[in-house]
Amino acid sequence: QNKQPGIEAEMDPAPEYIKESYKAAGKLSGKVALITGGDSGIGRAVSIHFAEEGADIAIVYLDEDQDAETTKNLVEAAGGKCLLIKGDVKKDSFCRNAVEKAVKEFGKLNILVNNAGMQFPQKDVKAIDKEQLETTFQTNIFAYFYFAEAALEYLKAGDCIINTTSVTAYRSSPSLIDYSSTKGAITTFTRSLATNLTDKGIRVNAVAPGPVWTPLIVSSFDEEKIKSFGSETAMKRAGQPSELGPAYVFLASEDASFITGQVIHVNGGEVVNG
Ligand code: NAD
Repeated sequence: QNKQPGIEAEMDPAPEYIKESYKAAGKLSGKVALITGGDSGIGRAVSIHFAEEGADIAIVYLDEDQDAETTKNLVEAAGGKCLLIKGDVKKDSFCRNAVEKAVKEFGKLNILVNNAGMQFPQKDVKAIDKEQLETTFQTNIFAYFYFAEAALEYLKAGDCIINTTSVTAYRSSPSLIDYSSTKGAITTFTRSLATNLTDKGIRVNAVAPGPVWTPLIVSSFDEEKIKSFGSETAMKRAGQPSELGPAYVFLASEDASFITGQVIHVNGGEVVNG
């Protein structure tokens, strides 16, 4: 288990999204989840795990590059209905419409997973221009607000929101200054929104992945960074998307009924602050 899978693992056209050892138990039976960035990488694993646990899934995605149709097929093979909603989460009107489309299709919404994200690694702070800064903040944190606001029209007691933050929110990240700032914001957003919603019985939590082999990594890091990707963890490797899905299932399920405002770190043992 303690081996560095290397880039070949991510380049595998059919990476493993559910481990053979995973035993689904209907923990999300009858639930409807909307997952942003649910077509690819970590979001794809979450979509498939949720479907395996009995949920129907609305997937919000940006473009065809990551093959949303394949994800839809995998979700349906796992037993869930799947609605694909294509659009840009940087637009608040799109986010509202996406929530409404999901509710129209499935009649309700129980779980919002704010997960879509992007990064532009940079050499130094001078390399971050205004346009890049706006894109990063709009995608990685503004959209989380837009979706939460829209979803709260429909979420009821017992329902929940899960935000994807990052290990970069908990350590210095010199080549991801803007990205790590948005991830720090997601952590505090999670805590504040959670305490704001306790009287409504809606839980809000976050997952902070460490290094995980996904298209985001392969497309944005250079060869040198990819070679050492994951080596900073105690396990000396990056994770696979299939190792992230179960944490989201746990937080979305009744098993986590007394957990709100928290962050689960899934990072191969990287030591984090805060
Ligand atoms: P990914 O590239 O596979 O997935 C990113 C998803 O976000 C894609 O589905 C894409 O369609 C969507 N997206 C991006 N911009 C969008 C936009 N403007 N509108 C609509 N959708 C948009 O990458 P991933 O690694 O699975 O990333 C998922 C989340 O995990 C992100 O929030 C990322 O920051 C976070 N994360 C990843 C890692 C890692 O090592 N892979 C580590 C920590 C946190």
